[in-house]
Amino acid sequence: MQRVVLLGPPGAGKGTQGARLAAVWGVPHIASGTILRRLVATEKGDLAQQARVINEGKMIPDRVANAVVLKELEKPSALEGFVLDGYPRDVPQARVLDEFLEGRKQRLNAVVLLQVAEGTLITRLAGRLTCPACGESYHVAAAPPRVSGRCDRCGGALVVREDDQPAWVRTRLAVYEEKTKPLMAYYRARGLLHVTSAEGTEDEVFALVFRSAGAGGTTDSMVL
Ligand code: AMP
Repeated sequence: MQRVVLLGPPGAGKGTQGARLAAVWGVPHIASGTILRRLVATEKGDLAQQARVINEGKMIPDRVANAVVLKELEKPSALEGFVLDGYPRDVPQARVLDEFLEGRKQRLNAVVLLQVAEGTLITRLAGRLTCPACGESYHVAAAPPRVSGRCDRCGGALVVREDDQPAWVRTRLAVYEEKTKPLMAYYRARGLLHVTSAEGTEDEVFALVFRSAGAGGTTDSMVL
């Protein structure tokens, strides 16, 4: 049974690595940002209204993020395990997740932090193309789709995410520093944190993530 959280700044590769990890284990890849963007695009209710700040790189309210992710975790498909990507994003969300799992007599196996230098993040985000339909992402230079503008996986039309515009990237990195970084101490104190360099190729990073996610205890594959 694998219950894993991927942590890391925007552009670290959580989506790509999360999808691979989930596919190998046969568990759902629950990417809160992808779910929330779909909600904003397709629904008009209260939740969708509150999730609109997504386009400005700010966090949506914890209440909304918790509701959306717990609904996914309650599905039978998540009973045998999951890979969480983008959630929890702050300490209050981590507490909600802990309570949810405790209520089911379950616990996380590992929290893997993908660590990347800020310059690399900015280059990656500046060239990122995303498929709104399935969440797959590409890079114009480093990992282009086979057919220009089309998703390899589902054929959807690729877009530049509004919050990948340079003006909003700074906000997202600042939000990460302030709200998400404290999760490192939170999970390290619980013996769950594995710090992994995410600077290499997709395959190199996957090998590290896979090892960390399956390993017990705390590991640091690079100096913080
Ligand atoms: P991501 O795809 O993980 O980069 O998330 C994109 C955006 O979705 C973030 O900048 C937030 O606006 C929102 N978001 C995703 N996950 C969460 C979360 N757990 N809590 C609050 N906002 C979130």
